[in-house]
Order: sequence, then C-alpha cells, then structure tokens
Amino acid sequence: MTKRMAVFPLVLSAPSGGGKTAVRDGLLKDSRFGFSITCTTRAPRPGEINGKDYYFVSKDEFLSLRKDGKLLEWAEVHGNYYGTPVKSVKDVMDSGKIPVMTIDVKGAASIRKIFDDAVTIFIIPPSPKILKKRLELRGESAEGMKVRMNTAREEMKQAHLFDYLVINDSLDAAISDVIKITETEMLRMCRNKYLSDLFSKDL
Ligand code: 5GP
Repeated sequence: MTKRMAVFPLVLSAPSGGGKTAVRDGLLKDSRFGFSITCTTRAPRPGEINGKDYYFVSKDEFLSLRKDGKLLEWAEVHGNYYGTPVKSVKDVMDSGKIPVMTIDVKGAASIRKIFDDAVTIFIIPPSPKILKKRLELRGESAEGMKVRMNTAREEMKQAHLFDYLVINDSLDAAISDVIKITETEMLRMCRNKYLSDLFSKDL
C-alpha cells in the first residue's frame, strides 16, 4: 500500500459565493485531484462550458438519468436540479485520483451515507458582508441575491456536520488548507489499512 492508493471522495460545500469553485480550480492544478463533473438543469452562466463546469441537461434528461439510477445523489437548489453521475466519481477514482465534489449541503449528507471514508469540508466566507459583495461581483440579480443569502444562512447552520471548516479569506491559504487536510486524511487511511492488514494476519 502506498500513500497514493488512498483515494476517497473529497466533498467541498459552501454557500453560493463562498468560493468553492475557485478552491476547486486551485486543487485541480495538483494531479492528485480530479473533478467529478455534475449535471444540472440550470442554464450555463457566461463562460461556463458543457462537460467542463457541468453537464447541462434538460429537465427530461435529468429525470431519466435519475430514474435509471445513474445519479449517486441529487438535489433541487434554487429551483434547478443538480445531480452527481455515478460515472463521474467512478472514472476519477479508477484513474487513482481523489474526486473533488463541489456539491450542496444536502448532497454532502448523501455522500457521507454512501462512502464512509468521504472527507467533507465546508468552506465559509470570512463574513456575510464579504459573501454579499462576492455575489454582487458575480452579477446576481436583486432577487437572486436574496434567495442565495437566505440559502447561505440556512446552509451555515449545517456547518457542524462537516469534518472540517476552511475560512476562505485568502484563496491560496484556503487551497493550501484543503491540500493539508487531504494529505493528513491519506496518511490516516494508510495507517488504518496497515493496521487492519496487520491484525487480520495470525500474529
Ligand atoms: P450553482 O448554480 O451556483 O453552480 O450551484 C448551486 C449549488 O448546487 C451549489 O451549492 C453547488 O455546489 C451545488 N451543486 C452542484 N452540483 C451538484 C450536485 O451534483 N449535487 C448537489 N447536491 N449539489 C450540487
């Protein structure tokens, strides 16, 4: 067993505007991580690419993926459907990389039930004021801002359910914190595997 072999789902959740996409993009520069692309029925934002940021699907396509058991988990967020294709996670794990899953709080709870070795991280903005500013910069409408700030308040109440909290006050520091957490968890899993192999042998 080498350290590289300890792959486990890494879940990053954050309120909209919390910065999880930027943290994810930073992690993906490290070849130990791979992105588990999810699908959504929402329209692409300017600059978003189908098959890179999301698989953009119609509501009918989404419902048939769900019916055929092709989604590991799904949730309705801000009136749109989002779901993690089983294949997205499997492909990344099969390539020996850690699948980075940027999903909402409900999705994180589902993944925790499916994979008991999943590591969950909640990324929080330094303050509600900064979160509001980030949403404004992203060009959210007044209505969109209201919905996202309300969801953010609700999601923050779930922060204690995550294994780790990372405060995203500096992007580089947040990325480095997530890498440190991952490396620590890799070592812990290698230790657990080593011990279970050791004790399964006749001493
Ligand atoms: P956005 O529309 O801002 O890209 O995403 C809205 C929310 O949906 C974010 O919290 C995002 O992480 C979450 N999300 C994206 N894909 C999935 C998914 O496959 N499953 C779940 N549960 N949430 C997702």
